[in-house]
Amino acid sequence: MSLVRRCSRTACGRPAVATLTYVYADSTAVLGPLATYAEPHCYDLCAEHSERLTAPRGWEVVRLSDGSGPSRPSGDDLEALANAVREAARPPGRAAGSGGTGTGGRATGETRRGHLRVLRSPDS
Ligand SMILES: [Zn+2]
Repeated sequence: MSLVRRCSRTACGRPAVATLTYVYADSTAVLGPLATYAEPHCYDLCAEHSERLTAPRGWEVVRLSDGSGPSRPSGDDLEALANAVREAARPPGRAAGSGGTGTGGRATGETRRGHLRVLRSPDS
């Protein structure tokens, strides 16, 4: 009997095809081939959910293609992958170089002067 791993997302239940591992030390979420055994901070995802995977803010998502061979990526490979993913994910937006100096004129220290009204009687 085969123990089918299922997607860990709630109300999904599809068979898992990938395992998401959170590397807290590097703030990296690594999506790789289905792990052979469950580890802490690992979440099995189905194909659809692994496609739609989004990382928390400030985290990088590294997708490991299911290549040939059981070789696990070393730390350097992981970092290179993270850099590649980071560049790929970054939109090619141009760096706003135009000097957008903020408006510095804040009206602080408003002097309040009393409004003096001199009432003169016009009769002479
Ligand atoms: Zn799913």
